Amino acid sequence: MASSQHADPPRPDQLRVIIIGAGLGGCAAAMAMHHQGFHVTIFEKIRKFDRLGDSLGLGENALRLLKRWGLHDQLIEIGNKSPNMQIRRWDTGEILAVQPLMDMAGYIGHRGDYHVEFLKQVEKLGMTVRMGHKVVEFHEAFSTSPSVVLADGRTFTADIIIGADGIKSQTRELVLGFADKPKSSGYACYRAYFKGAHLKTIPLCAPLVQQDCVNIWIGHDMHLVQNTLRNGEEFNWILTHKESVAEIPESWFQPGNMEDVRELVKQWDPMIVAAVNETPACLDWKICYRDPIPTWVSKTHTIALLGDSCHPHLPTSAQGASQATESGAVLALCLKLAGKDHVPLATRVYEKLRFSRVRQAQLNGEDVRDRWHGTLRQLDDGEKPDPDQVKIKNRWLYPFDAEADTRERWESISAMVRKELESGVITPLFDPITGDRLALIQHDAMGQRKDLPLPAEVVVG
Ligand SMILES: Cc1cc2nc3c(=O)[nH]c(=O)nc-3n(C[C@H](O)[C@H](O)[C@H](O)COP(=O)(O)OP(=O)(O)OC[C@H]3O[C@@H](n4cnc5c(N)ncnc54)[C@H](O)[C@@H]3O)c2cc1C
Repeated sequence: MASSQHADPPRPDQLRVIIIGAGLGGCAAAMAMHHQGFHVTIFEKIRKFDRLGDSLGLGENALRLLKRWGLHDQLIEIGNKSPNMQIRRWDTGEILAVQPLMDMAGYIGHRGDYHVEFLKQVEKLGMTVRMGHKVVEFHEAFSTSPSVVLADGRTFTADIIIGADGIKSQTRELVLGFADKPKSSGYACYRAYFKGAHLKTIPLCAPLVQQDCVNIWIGHDMHLVQNTLRNGEEFNWILTHKESVAEIPESWFQPGNMEDVRELVKQWDPMIVAAVNETPACLDWKICYRDPIPTWVSKTHTIALLGDSCHPHLPTSAQGASQATESGAVLALCLKLAGKDHVPLATRVYEKLRFSRVRQAQLNGEDVRDRWHGTLRQLDDGEKPDPDQVKIKNRWLYPFDAEADTRERWESISAMVRKELESGVITPLFDPITGDRLALIQHDAMGQRKDLPLPAEVVVG
């Protein structure tokens, strides 16, 4: 992939956007910004992307937006074709519930394959990702436009800078004013993705590779999600287990020990044990989670966070990339509605519009994990759980149209933000002491919107 910015220089009336990071979040933001007519420059520190990661879900809530930006059918092609998933008992494999796959993550495909299509679309729209360009410094002042400095010493200025630089975000440190240490979620995952052909010759696990399928085994404080793609050509499992570590290595590359995995699942359903036993290698991924942060926007209101840099999700949320896509759409539309000279208004409305919905998507991941890990323990021997108790409850997230919601709520929230900007007192999104969500809107478990009373004003930064 060549170096991404719009080939032409910005027109005087065009908003200039710098995006740091060309992951799925950064690419989605680039498409959204382009859609609103802005001039986009993207810096990515990696020189060349590999096919990294394994299974990733893209929900209808993201696909609806991506389609408007010209990307749809290629993504559907990548996703798992199975209509349903089965939720099973860890030891016998007995099916406890069957759910449409769309209730979980929507289309589950390989992250690297989705990434290729996102990058292709960015290029097709006339933007170029500047690969091998690491942002190392930021400059911002109330009187001037913000800028970034690259590792090679060059400085670039824009009207807004978007930190889509992932879980280890440097931009987040700038926005918060301190280094936000990763927090152990209390769980870790072993993850494996490999060619599935040889499993077809092993009778015990052959049924898992006859066609695309998704199965989830739930046990005490553990669950395993299996995803078969490309008609059995590719096979993936992710085993979540309890683990508390003092030092958390936040890495997508740390090798796992297959002996440890085999030991953990040795008493499990023989079908999945056979597949695990045939697995050549795995990664050991300590699930890093972060507490919600009180602001996604810098003190001059011109540097904003997006995606994993401000709202990472647990794998059980299956919404990390989808929520990053929604955030891109909302920020771009806020910038359009506010107008070129009102970036602070746009960024502050953006964070208020997004926080509560993102938080709910994050919490859904905690909820389903806890139900999967705890349900069987509460039952007597031979007793079956109510299928509803082990089902994923993400369905309400999918009909949402992030752009329509932004238009609908723009007037009321922008009026409130105007007052905040005038007074210089910005309401934080989240109170780290009480844990209260201070953003304006909440959704209940059925997706119904509840308006919160106006929060008490607290000075940020
Ligand atoms: C290697 C990898 C594998 C993953 N695998 C999975 C998976 O299997 N399943 C799943 O559900 N999720 C996976 N994820 C997470 C998932 O991709 C994200 O939750 C989601 O796509 C939103 O990502 P993002 O764009 O916000 O952040 P990321 O995907 O982390 O992208 C951030 C980008 O910013 C770049 N960057 C960081 N700092 C700088 C800097 N200073 N200057 C320039 N560029 C910078 C990084 O190189 C990276 O490309 C993975 C993430 C990574 C990085």
